[in-house]
Amino acid sequence: MYDLNDWLSKPPKYTTFRINILRQFEHENLKKFLLKQSKELNCAENIPNFYLLRPDCLVIEQWPNDLKLEKGAKHVVVDALCAAAVLRGAHVFAPGVMGVPSGSQKGDIVDIYGDITGQCKRGLKVGYDGKKQYVGTGILKMTRNDLFENGVQPSGIAVHTLLPASRLPVINETLYPKGAILLQNLPSIVCGWVVNAQPNEVILDMCAAPGNKTTHLAEMSNNEAIIIALDKTQQKVAAIKNNYENHGITCINAYAFDSTKCFSEKSNGIDLGPPFPSNSFDKILLDAPCSGLGQRPQLLNKMTPKMLQSYKFVQRKLLKSAVEVLKVGGKLTYSTCTVTEDENEGIVSWALEMFPCLSLVSAEPLLGGPGLPNCGLTEQQRAMVQRFNPTDDSLRIVDPIYKDTIGFFIAQFIKTNPLQFSL
Ligand code: SAM
Repeated sequence: MYDLNDWLSKPPKYTTFRINILRQFEHENLKKFLLKQSKELNCAENIPNFYLLRPDCLVIEQWPNDLKLEKGAKHVVVDALCAAAVLRGAHVFAPGVMGVPSGSQKGDIVDIYGDITGQCKRGLKVGYDGKKQYVGTGILKMTRNDLFENGVQPSGIAVHTLLPASRLPVINETLYPKGAILLQNLPSIVCGWVVNAQPNEVILDMCAAPGNKTTHLAEMSNNEAIIIALDKTQQKVAAIKNNYENHGITCINAYAFDSTKCFSEKSNGIDLGPPFPSNSFDKILLDAPCSGLGQRPQLLNKMTPKMLQSYKFVQRKLLKSAVEVLKVGGKLTYSTCTVTEDENEGIVSWALEMFPCLSLVSAEPLLGGPGLPNCGLTEQQRAMVQRFNPTDDSLRIVDPIYKDTIGFFIAQFIKTNPLQFSL
């Protein structure tokens, strides 16, 4: 047996980047960068292993076990979200900083602590007595004045992380030309493989912002699918556009629209954007809004039981619209980055009951574990979905790399008949 809470409190031991296969990927850049870092960390050219799991998926492992960095003389306190990002290999950005001791100067080596109960007051000058967790060591880049005292909302890097406590390397995307690589969790990359976009397919991404999966689909189709991306606000759509423009993609059209309303009998077609008529899309990705409980590491969670209960209602509404606009013979991929039964297996069994026109298909490539037992799915159906969290291997042997990811869920349906509702 495994302890899910313990697993969720730690970061994965790998960093994954999606490689834009429309561009050239230079291995040498990364090697040179890691060698340069190894000098900063005094670890004699002993760099982390990295390799391509597939042409579009780069995996980078941790710094070697024996690498020890001298602890900093001062402590910087950051909020729990920022602390989680540091453990995944990020620098500390100014809005996440809660406390910097008086007298600290730019260039000081500091230890970074996460405020894991959310009690620290912004601007703290002295040592923090509350519950805190060491998350890494870095170089201070901003003073107290820059951060708290000059009346301007600070932005930019406040602490340049040298080594996170997780020993994951700190790599930012600027190492490569814009849009060449993208930090993306492994199950999110698998989700793109499951959708498997092909040239000329008409594809809808219903909840697309910031477009990390949308751009993956476009790249998999060699920029030759016809992809429509929706999200709720103009701001979110701007993020999608920025993302696909950086990636050199031209086959995506993005619109601000509520996807629960993306079907209309009165629509004349897909060319003018949403709403769409029935039977419009060959493939649909519904990467649903969810409770996000699969995010790792999770150092502080403010989700109330009431909030947790609310997601399945919007997920059902979105799924209903998806079934309306999917072509007969078309495939719908449903995914979440959470681990609750209600939002995953629960939604699948609800959909199968509600829409007799849907059949579950195997979400190939099956790389995660099977669905949870005793939650409305038959053994055969459990084996067709994939759940990313440590499982027992009785139904399927899972490669260790796919067990040490964020928590995630993927299911795929095919629409076998025109939509009818079960009574
Ligand atoms: N697929 C995205 C990616 O990989 O970059 C991440 C999507 S995130 C899990 C869920 C998204 O659903 C959020 O951007 C949220 O704004 C959007 N969303 C929530 N409700 C929606 C609705 N009714 N219509 C369209 N988008 C919605």
